[in-house]
Amino acid sequence: MLEWNDLQNACHQCTRCGLCETRHNVVFGVGNQNADILFVGEGPGEQEDLQGEPFVGPAGKLLDAMLCIIDLDRHENCYIANIVKCRPPGNRDPLELEQDACIDFLRNQVALIKPRIIVCLGRIAAQRLIDPEYRITRQHGQWVQKNGIWLTAIYHPSALLRDEWKRPETFRDLLSIREKLRE
Ligand code: URA
Repeated sequence: MLEWNDLQNACHQCTRCGLCETRHNVVFGVGNQNADILFVGEGPGEQEDLQGEPFVGPAGKLLDAMLCIIDLDRHENCYIANIVKCRPPGNRDPLELEQDACIDFLRNQVALIKPRIIVCLGRIAAQRLIDPEYRITRQHGQWVQKNGIWLTAIYHPSALLRDEWKRPETFRDLLSIREKLRE
C-alpha cells in the first residue's frame, strides 16, 4: 500500500492501459482524505479530463447539489473518486480490462481513507464494488456490508439529468445515506 503522495504520483505516471494515450489529465480524486464517506463514479468525462478533477461537468453540478441536501461538501466532509482515473474516449463505459488495470488505485485510496460508507454512483461502480450482477433500477438504495464498510448505490447524476422521474427515488436514497452517516 502506498501513502498519498506516492499513490498520486504513481497514478499520474500510469501507463497500465490504453486510456493513458488519449487522456489530458489523470483524475485522481478530490475531497477530505479522512472522510467517513466515499463516492465512486465510473470514470472522467470531457470536463473532468480537461480539469483533472472528478465530477466538474454538468453531472458534477448536480452531484454537488445532491451532496448539499445531506450536508456534504466535496472539499469538507466527503471524498469523490472514480473506478477508472482516465477518460474513456467518447464517454463510453470503461472496459473490464481498463477497470482491472485501475482498480488497485481505488483500493489503495479506500485503504487510506478508511471510509465507513461507500456510495456507488451508477451501475458501473455498483457492479464493480457491490455485485457483478447488480441491477441499479431494482437495487439502488439497498445497503450491504463488506469488510466492515457499508455500501450502497444510487443513480448516476447523468442518469438523473436524462430522466427527472428518477429524482424522487434518489432523494429517498440520499436521506437513507444521511441516516447511515448519523449512526
Ligand atoms: N461521470 C463519472 O462517473 N465520473 C466523473 O468524474 C464525471 C462524470
